Amino acid sequence: MQSYETGTMIRCEDVHKRFGRTEVLRGITCDIAKGEVVVVAGPSGSGKSTLLRCINHLERVDKGRIYVDGQPVGYREVNGKFVEKSEREVARMRAAIGMVFQRFNLFPQLTALGNVTDAPIHVRKIGRSQAMEAGRAMLQKVGLGDKIDSYPGQLSGGQQQRVAIARALAMEPKVMLFDEPTSALDPELVGEVLEVMKSLARDGMTMIVVTHEMGFAREVADRVMLIDEGIIVEEGPPEEFFNNPSHDRTKLFLSKIL
Ligand code: ADP
Ligand code: MG
Repeated sequence: MQSYETGTMIRCEDVHKRFGRTEVLRGITCDIAKGEVVVVAGPSGSGKSTLLRCINHLERVDKGRIYVDGQPVGYREVNGKFVEKSEREVARMRAAIGMVFQRFNLFPQLTALGNVTDAPIHVRKIGRSQAMEAGRAMLQKVGLGDKIDSYPGQLSGGQQQRVAIARALAMEPKVMLFDEPTSALDPELVGEVLEVMKSLARDGMTMIVVTHEMGFAREVADRVMLIDEGIIVEEGPPEEFFNNPSHDRTKLFLSKIL
């Protein structure tokens, strides 16, 4: 897809987020390059989902700044000042960021193809036949070319999650954010979803993947990051992260998960 591009795709600068009295993100700073695959690991409640939700502005940060492809998330820069974007502008920006959740949230009354073409037709206002053609190609890409007319209820969890990935891809995102995409799946269905994600990574998609699948992290990630209590405790290439972690908290986390 965009593997020839270079530069930063996602930049987080000292991102803070609190819910009530709890500071959930306590200063997250990171740069993610175009085409980079970053796996985020960390204990439950450490702020991983919140970080992803801040990146596509489902949550507003309290302090700090996030940029996607050079654009400040949720804000416009006007003469050096940050002005909050309109709902419409936020929606447009969000369309460039594909998000895949643990629960796929497909429309049960729509076929696989209907699910994949819904947003392109109604949000991006793409012509029906063009959207259908692109949708078929996306379903083909995730290995579901023979399921385009199936309803979610007729598909396995792994197939539904692949439809959810195709649905996100149909918006032609610059970035894909995955929040524990396989943790609701039966173990035998995890592999097919990871395979699709692997092929996206090979195509050069910029990806942040929150997952406990450390085999995937070892094989596919350019960088693995441990988030604990709202900060990045450790980050590095998988060999370093797994074989030679510098922090006790990483060692402890790995001893529990591996
Ligand atoms: P993780 O994804 O790492 O498990 P989360 O980002 O979901 O962690 O949550 C981090 C902390 O923030 C948790 O303590 C959670 O209860 C709290 N939290 C998340 N979202 C909200 C919210 N909308 N309102 C209040 N607390 C929240
Ligand atoms: Mg989470």
